[in-house]
Amino acid sequence: MNQTETRRPDFDFENFTFGVQSTDHMLMAAYQKGAWSTYRIAPVQSISLSPLAMCFHYGQTVFEGLKAFRMSNGKINVFRMESHWKRINRSLKRMAMPPLPEELFMEGIQQLLKQDSAWVIDDPEYSLYIRPFVIATEQKLGVDASQEYLFMVVLSPMRAYYNKPLKVKVETNYIRAARGGAGAAKNGGNYGASLLPQINAKKEGFDQIIWLDAKEKKFIEESGTMNILFILEGNRLVTPELSDSILDGITRDSLLKLAGEEGFSVEERPVSIEEICQRIENGERVEAFGAGTAAVISPIETISYQGKSFATYLAADAGMYRLKNRLSAVRIGVLPDKHGWNHLLDA
Ligand SMILES: *Cc1c(COP(=O)(O)O)cnc(C)c1O
Repeated sequence: MNQTETRRPDFDFENFTFGVQSTDHMLMAAYQKGAWSTYRIAPVQSISLSPLAMCFHYGQTVFEGLKAFRMSNGKINVFRMESHWKRINRSLKRMAMPPLPEELFMEGIQQLLKQDSAWVIDDPEYSLYIRPFVIATEQKLGVDASQEYLFMVVLSPMRAYYNKPLKVKVETNYIRAARGGAGAAKNGGNYGASLLPQINAKKEGFDQIIWLDAKEKKFIEESGTMNILFILEGNRLVTPELSDSILDGITRDSLLKLAGEEGFSVEERPVSIEEICQRIENGERVEAFGAGTAAVISPIETISYQGKSFATYLAADAGMYRLKNRLSAVRIGVLPDKHGWNHLLDA
């Protein structure tokens, strides 16, 4: 299918809310008797499941989030598709769910994108969000690993709106994930458990929370559903080192790998909240931002900790914007893809 055969859908690409509209098609594959079926691409439709299906009861649900872009050369780029495939399999493993074969994930998503290629419009501010997910479907109320699963992929248009710098609160009561837990997996339960603290923070006038480690409540882990990074003294990119309570973000990884090209040194190490507050209090220049596929980077404006507010550096010359622009430029083919991240399709 090529550009001349697919018509731009009757959809207002300028004005929409992210995540409520899907494209026209979805992918489905089923796991039964120890094997995945071949995938099927069908018009987006509701699915019917038994109320005994295990996904409703014991949390075996895993998802991914990646994006497709229209490149400056007209091709569709699925950014770091292989890294997302590897990560969904790590998440599935942690949740005792069967891995997805490379072909099913990679080929399936490419075919789905070809089918709905008219939804990947040529606009640098636009991307098509890809949501692969797996749910447990066996009918059984006993607590156990399901023997049956459904893999689905839906697509949803997304626009890079200007994101207002965030006022974040350091959460000192609730935690997101503990060592030995499942925080490094993109499984549904992690997000369900994060909603109440998030809502409480909103009521107090904050946009987002910073999670601390579960044991000492001393070290910074993530911000909301994003990784968190800092730029100290204008040229040191610092971020908490990965553990099984921190999600291995692909945006985080991309930024760390591009950092050298923008003249930053990289430090992956424990970062205590005391260190960050102390540096700001001493008048040092500290940039702070969240990183994730959805927004690439979300600048943080203030960090509130134990009732005190600490203001970060946000001026137009902040290094985080250079990093963001570099990553965006690689994704749409304006800068060379030195790391082999772009997965191009003719569609
Ligand atoms: C998905 C996610 C991220 C960001 O990962 P990306 O691969 O960069 O999108 C960070 N933290 C959590 C908790 C996440 O779920």
